[in-house]
Amino acid sequence: MTTYLIRGARIVDGDPTDLIIRDGVIAETGPNLTGGPGAEVIDADGLVALPGLVDLHTHLREPGREDAETVESGSRAAALGGYTAVCAMANTSPVADTAGVVEQVWRLGRTAGLVDVQPIGAVTVGLGGEQLAELGAMADSAAQVRIFSDDGHCVADPRLMRRALEYVRAFDGVIAQHAEEPRLTDGAQMHEGITSARLGLPGWPAVAEEAIIARDVLLAEHVGARLHVCHVSTAGSVEILRWAKARGIAVTAEVTPHHLLLTDTRADGYDPVFKVNPPLRTGADVDALQAALVDGVIDVVATDHAPHAVQDKECEWPYARPGMLGLETALSVVWLAVGHRLGWDGVAERLSRAPARIAGLTEHGHDPAPGRAATFTLVDPAARWTVDPAGLASRSRNTPYAGLDLPVRVVATFLRGEPTVVDGKAVR
Ligand SMILES: [Zn+2]
Repeated sequence: MTTYLIRGARIVDGDPTDLIIRDGVIAETGPNLTGGPGAEVIDADGLVALPGLVDLHTHLREPGREDAETVESGSRAAALGGYTAVCAMANTSPVADTAGVVEQVWRLGRTAGLVDVQPIGAVTVGLGGEQLAELGAMADSAAQVRIFSDDGHCVADPRLMRRALEYVRAFDGVIAQHAEEPRLTDGAQMHEGITSARLGLPGWPAVAEEAIIARDVLLAEHVGARLHVCHVSTAGSVEILRWAKARGIAVTAEVTPHHLLLTDTRADGYDPVFKVNPPLRTGADVDALQAALVDGVIDVVATDHAPHAVQDKECEWPYARPGMLGLETALSVVWLAVGHRLGWDGVAERLSRAPARIAGLTEHGHDPAPGRAATFTLVDPAARWTVDPAGLASRSRNTPYAGLDLPVRVVATFLRGEPTVVDGKAVR
């Protein structure tokens, strides 16, 4: 393996230092280091070294929709975004509801070798919401699944949700809930409010999310199991989570970059690139989500990276699939929305350390330090860049940020001492 000497990076909020990476680990940090003969030198003057980012919520689309994304293309997009691990959602075709499918996804991730791909298992067979999937077999498989989710669908049946929580408690697993009471969102197209009324689109009310979160934190308390709430999108959800955490309930929550920045008024013009589930909400919701991420009621940022093929997205609003790309823009969008309030330490916590803890990914989420695996990303805090959909590594183009000028650029990413991104470009 190549030895690297990284010159003058700030580790999170620290002073500039050199780092030597040898045999996959950080061998040494300090001033004026020499890497020895053959060491490759990377000038990191002005750059910030963060622990490799960890995404709890990625749709890689393989198996089944390789026209929209593959494990490899999604892994490349992730590495370019500064990620070293992503958790792959189970709503593939076939659904990842057996040991066989989760092992397939896990192996595809290992073969691509650009990030660690950690499969999420389905809670119910075929995401059907009727019968528990083989949670134990997925946990015991080579993929060692610890997070289970029917994402895309809500586990709406409270008895099934209770049984799932009871089951995963045995191996410290967690149920990640897509909180959406389906009876309240039948036919919904966007957030229910002033804009939906004006545009004449059926609404997705905030209460459909909040009712499920309230129910599930009570179930988690009753069972004594861990609950994770996917893509929190409303101010009311934040208040329920605040109450649950104050009560000591084992609940964690994520927010997406797009819910931290964009509002439902983007639907004006009916451009389906802004159609997403849960929908973009109001400015007051965005303000509450930002504040909750800063104060820790929301634990992590997760992308909900949801690639879609052109024919599924570039059509009339009602027929378009919900979802947005996220991996390559997440860090920049988070910095734009709340960077000045989070600081680099807050970013490291919300985008790396906390998600790694929740997922049980013990090799990830550690600030670069001697003896640790060299799994980190180097970012340029002074850089600006303009999002060009054609320039993204994802196979899909459905980014809501096309043409937007964003702060912060990922310069390099390392996974166990091997660079996956150098000079802002994927190595393969
Ligand atoms: Zn979802």
